[in-house]
Amino acid sequence: MKVKIESNEFIIDFTDRNESKLTPIYSVKIIKKNFIFNDYKTFPRNKINIYGNKVTLRYLSCTCNEYMSNELLYPSRDIRRICKHIFIALSKTCMEKMGSLESNILNHIFWYKLSNVFQIEIERQRLLIGYGFDYEIFYVYPFNKPETYFTYNCSLNIWKDNVRPFDKELLNISLSTFLRRTSFFLKKYSPTKKIYKKKI
Ligand SMILES: [Zn+2]
Repeated sequence: MKVKIESNEFIIDFTDRNESKLTPIYSVKIIKKNFIFNDYKTFPRNKINIYGNKVTLRYLSCTCNEYMSNELLYPSRDIRRICKHIFIALSKTCMEKMGSLESNILNHIFWYKLSNVFQIEIERQRLLIGYGFDYEIFYVYPFNKPETYFTYNCSLNIWKDNVRPFDKELLNISLSTFLRRTSFFLKKYSPTKKIYKKKI
């Protein structure tokens, strides 16, 4: 299996000859390379002042510099646009209106410093995969179990607390192989390595 990144897109090649000798291995298909929050029409349209910045929850927008520079790079409601002010505003008023999968991801953007989340499919099961700026720890969120998530450490090659996403071990092996390859290529080729700013 080969993984490479071209213009911020993952390209996975499962046809590698050496790898195919290790069959059966399940293929992983990347469905979306980012994650967009639902468009919650009930979120308030009024501007909320958070540390001098104005947040509009209806559009998940903010007037801070961080938001405005990310606004130029990413589509509307993409998680990479969510700044700490939007997070604070959501936590105060709207977090309980979001689904468990979205609120987990939102919390992890800040507490686990996720830099992106993308969507994959393996054996007809959809999963979201989140990773931080170190491309080392990956978080796996299954659509069919939205209240739960799994943590994989690529350098130690272990699932946290030995808890794995699938009952079928070959699926876990396929997924962890994919995550390790993705980690390797992200470390090698990722164009922007942002430093997370915790200060408000
Ligand atoms: Zn902001």
